[in-house]
Amino acid sequence: MKNFKINKQPEKVVFCKLCVYSNQKVVPSTIKNDKKDHSNRNFLRFNKDGVCSACELILRKKKLNKKNNIDWEKRENELRIILEKFRSRNGSFDCIVPGSGGKDSVFQAETLKKKYGMNPLTVTFSPIIYTDVGMSNFHKWSQNGNVNNFLYTPSGKSYGKLVELSFKNMLHPFQPFIFGQRHFATHIAIKLKIPLIFVGEPHSEFGSDQDEEDLPYMLERYYSKNNNEKINIAGLETKELINKHKINFSDLEYFLPNDINLIRENNIKQYFFGYFEKMQPQENFYKAAKITKFQTSPERTEGTYSKYNSIDDKIDGFHYWTSYVKFGIGRATEEASNELRHGYISRDEAVNLVKKYDGEFPKKYFKEFLSLTNISESEFYEIVDSFRPDHLWKKVGNDYRYGKNWQLKNLLK
Ligand SMILES: [Zn+2]
Repeated sequence: MKNFKINKQPEKVVFCKLCVYSNQKVVPSTIKNDKKDHSNRNFLRFNKDGVCSACELILRKKKLNKKNNIDWEKRENELRIILEKFRSRNGSFDCIVPGSGGKDSVFQAETLKKKYGMNPLTVTFSPIIYTDVGMSNFHKWSQNGNVNNFLYTPSGKSYGKLVELSFKNMLHPFQPFIFGQRHFATHIAIKLKIPLIFVGEPHSEFGSDQDEEDLPYMLERYYSKNNNEKINIAGLETKELINKHKINFSDLEYFLPNDINLIRENNIKQYFFGYFEKMQPQENFYKAAKITKFQTSPERTEGTYSKYNSIDDKIDGFHYWTSYVKFGIGRATEEASNELRHGYISRDEAVNLVKKYDGEFPKKYFKEFLSLTNISESEFYEIVDSFRPDHLWKKVGNDYRYGKNWQLKNLLK
């Protein structure tokens, strides 16, 4: 039934010695017929001391690693050379920053404008369903910030269909949004002839191959090497979405990666801002909140302990919860690991937070998720359970609602 299955996860679950992340997350294949097969590769690598690549990178950023520490001054000079090449002489837009108006995109755009004197255009690919606080914060960004913005909102029908298919085929309901966020800026860059783009963190902080770790720019493999018909999204080829599921190409276009030839012809360059400038979650949050006056959520986010990380989208909780099902890694693990790496909490605190909140079901928007994807409640659990790896889960009891009848075999210590 499934044309995509998470597999090749290591049978033995190992947790990082420093943070609370495990070796279980793998990156699904997105572009078919890539020469080098990047599907099912591990999201984080573990070194011989049992430390994950994300922790190692933070140590290098803080200059606390045994070797290869980062020279920030040198990187700032590299950035200044790039900016001089692209800087506008007449005040027109000279770079693009994609983002939602959350802490990272605000920090990037404002720093480019204020510290480096650039003229950034920010672009936003709409969340699947905006939360009230997300929509209000987005407006606050343009009202109170110093940068201009383009918002693109796909039709609810095609967005919903893609979410449904991604959920059914890959247990990855957030994939269409991730695609849109990743690729929208290059479409705008080509159309408006603004070839310089800054995205957030380098590959390495969020999973990459070793050979990519110290690259300041996006690799060519993130673009499409095929004609549009063969690009794989929601577990299907584009031509299948158009022919079988009756989605128009215009509905799909801005979700899809651009053809590499088009990227080269237009001389598009995508750099990681986090490669050149230190990105610190809490510091960025306070700086950004001061500028745009954005608000945190009125209540704790389900599945974690925080109130301010990605609160824009009603479907967000299902992204983290399905990751918990596929990898045993939920939202609290992501956030606690990140805060632990930056030194905001101790490992013991992180372990307790994961035990308390990880895998909590996102009940608040469950009905909206089912209605968006046209899936019944029983079908929802059936699909979810077909993606539970045997080596991660054991069945306990019969209370299937909110996945209560399953328990992780390997608990974090
Ligand atoms: Zn780690």
